[in-house]
Amino acid sequence: MRSKVCKYKNMVVALVAAAILILSLIGYITDTIDSIRNFLFSRTIENENSYVQMLDVGQGDSILLFSGGRAALIDTGIKSYADDITRTLKSKGIKTLDLLLITHNHNDHMGGIVPITQSFKVKRLIIPDLNKTDERTDKMQEAIANVKTSGGKSETASKGMSMTLGDFDMTVLGCYYDEKDENDRSIILKANIGKWSFLFTGDAQEPAERRLLEDGADVKCDVLKIGHHGSMYGTSEEFLSACSPSFAMISCGRGNRYSHPHDVVILRLREQGTQIWRTDQSGDVTFNITNKEIGVETLK
Ligand SMILES: [Zn+2]
Repeated sequence: MRSKVCKYKNMVVALVAAAILILSLIGYITDTIDSIRNFLFSRTIENENSYVQMLDVGQGDSILLFSGGRAALIDTGIKSYADDITRTLKSKGIKTLDLLLITHNHNDHMGGIVPITQSFKVKRLIIPDLNKTDERTDKMQEAIANVKTSGGKSETASKGMSMTLGDFDMTVLGCYYDEKDENDRSIILKANIGKWSFLFTGDAQEPAERRLLEDGADVKCDVLKIGHHGSMYGTSEEFLSACSPSFAMISCGRGNRYSHPHDVVILRLREQGTQIWRTDQSGDVTFNITNKEIGVETLK
């Protein structure tokens, strides 16, 4: 009788051990598959303090990218926000911009370029083709001179141009200088980091979005900077479904006279289940990036 109980006990122990072994094997195999996939398709983020911060510059754009102790700024907002931007960046210990990219030659994106290039050493200034703009270029020329004086270089953006910043790998997906509207001539930049990707569209609207899709550009992203402050002339259904973002960044002024962002854009984003983050409602919006997640942080 005793030996029967012992046999039964042994069988249970053997079964439990086998189950544990099988479960750990499955876990091991799943982890290995995940590691292989991550190794093949994305790099691991090495720098803990990596983020994208959409600065509240009222009706305009200015976005800070930070990784590996290096900083990049996409657009500078209008001139009156240059002091705010400078204060925010200096409070983080930023004295040098490895990269300053101006998406297009409109005041709400480049108005602060002169004070910013005076306050920070800019290693690389990337601008749109100034021969193809309808706007005055004197501020841009002054900024180019400032960058040169401090030992940096200025370049005109072209499709396929690439740059790195800490863990960010960035590529210009398009810059359609032959478009009629200055907004559609915006430099469109994709920034990949780890397994995540951000798409920065400047003020691109439907014509530029269509050309990106026609070019077969890889617009799929986790975070989409909504074009032209959420204007009704951009973020078409087709473009949005190709991007398929989890998060939308909208930079616009409180009670702005253009009614940005437009209801139709907000509705499209909601229908897609995209989380919407707006500077007019939340002030600065920071996307903290780790290998596991993108966490959103606001001050308000
Ligand atoms: Zn704008």
